[in-house]
Amino acid sequence: MEKNTPDLNDLMAQIDLGKLGVLAGKVDLAGILNAASNMNDKQLRQLSRALGVGGSGRKRELPAADGDFYDYLDTLTDAQVEVAGRVHAFMRAEVMPVMNEYWSRDEFPRDLIGKMRELNLLRAIWNEDGTRRPDATIMEGIITLEACRVDVSTAVFFGVHGGLAFASIALGGSEEQKKRWLPDMLDMRRIGAFGLTEPEGGSQVSEGMRTTCRRDGDGWVLNGEKKWIGNSTFSDFTVIWARDEETSEVRGFVVEAGTPGYSVEKIQGKIALRMVENGHITLQDCRVADEFRLQAVQGWDTVSDVLKLTRAGVAWQGVGCAMGAYELALAYAQQRKQFGKRIGEFQLVQNHLVLMLADVTAMLGMVTRLSHLADEGRMDDAHAALAKVHTAARCREVVARAREVFGGNGILLEHGVAKHFADTEAIYSYEGTNEINTLVVGRAVTGLSAFV
Ligand SMILES: Cc1cc2nc3c(=O)[nH]c(=O)nc-3n(C[C@H](O)[C@H](O)[C@H](O)COP(=O)(O)OP(=O)(O)OC[C@H]3O[C@@H](n4cnc5c(N)ncnc54)[C@H](O)[C@@H]3O)c2cc1C
Repeated sequence: MEKNTPDLNDLMAQIDLGKLGVLAGKVDLAGILNAASNMNDKQLRQLSRALGVGGSGRKRELPAADGDFYDYLDTLTDAQVEVAGRVHAFMRAEVMPVMNEYWSRDEFPRDLIGKMRELNLLRAIWNEDGTRRPDATIMEGIITLEACRVDVSTAVFFGVHGGLAFASIALGGSEEQKKRWLPDMLDMRRIGAFGLTEPEGGSQVSEGMRTTCRRDGDGWVLNGEKKWIGNSTFSDFTVIWARDEETSEVRGFVVEAGTPGYSVEKIQGKIALRMVENGHITLQDCRVADEFRLQAVQGWDTVSDVLKLTRAGVAWQGVGCAMGAYELALAYAQQRKQFGKRIGEFQLVQNHLVLMLADVTAMLGMVTRLSHLADEGRMDDAHAALAKVHTAARCREVVARAREVFGGNGILLEHGVAKHFADTEAIYSYEGTNEINTLVVGRAVTGLSAFV
């Protein structure tokens, strides 16, 4: 039988004779059939389109590329859905049109800060006194998810300012210090950064911190270097963590941009998160008044509490990045043709898509539960570390599959997936590398520490 030619017997078997009889009473069926028998192929296809019948000529509506397969977002409250919608619209209207240009230029689009301010997102997470709202972690999570579906750098800018820097002051500041800095940070009138990592020590910074502080009269003198500090090239201030030369205790300081002895050089040549500006900070006899020392810091424990909070947010970054890559790959597979078929019709491509979707769906369940635990005050370090380890690793696999679905186009910035592919590498390494978070979970489940 010739391809696409319907079998007449099959067609006759589908006809409902009762309905045909009714129709024959209303229209000249014999005349129509006679006219149709004289039509050529093109005219027949036009007729069948006009009547909205005839499977082969009809354009089927394909499902939308949506990574929320289990409708997790349906479990959100109205307020959470409203915030998610605001971020979703903002990312598409404001970030999407400029992100590739800024990513290529290795620059953060500072105009976005003013536009983000209007979204008023931080007040959905934090209260003005530095306490967290009842659903803060879920809220932070869905903001991060919606941002990362389009662009991870934007989420990182927000996470450094509204997570790491804000939480350092909220957890480590005195009441007076919180009043001084937090309201401006909530409204994004002043932008913060978080300086913990050093050139010689990321993983070991808790034990091997080399940046020092020394009491000197009514102030402190800071010396050392900090590496990878996001937002620090344009932030109004950076929280600097330093070890007391006398007591060896870890202390936190708010160091304002422009303070003598404090300088920042932008790190060049990154292959991931290029829109985030990371700085290399040098502190050379940098003098700060005691009122800039975070007065309620309890040594390393405060840093650890800050990182526990933000690690949950980073776990959501992995999910959002993977979901965005999956959605791009699915949309591409639905329209890209090879061998006369959409590549989504090939079984091997469907296998990629289904494996990606399974990972995204499982990860979304994991971080949703993690955030509920956090908001109930039941999340510990190992809970956050497990989600960070798992989502970062799965995200790496999902973006690799997504990139593969695009063939050569997968390495072109204009198709979107390449940015997700590259950005995953940073998610994988910061806020505790895969190995360090694995050791945290391993210690919790065995009761035995494998840290050196
Ligand atoms: C894009 C980006 C943004 C960042 N932003 C910030 C920021 O804003 N503020 C900030 O303070 N920091 C920031 N960081 C730093 C980040 O937290 C560190 O890169 C991270 O902690 C890892 O430290 P490291 O790069 O020095 O790697 P290292 O600690 O040198 O680790 C190298 C390798 O050794 C492994 N390793 C180390 N110790 C062990 C061990 N005991 N057992 C097994 N394996 C081990 C690690 O897992 C890793 O694979 C950022 C980093 C990046 C890439």
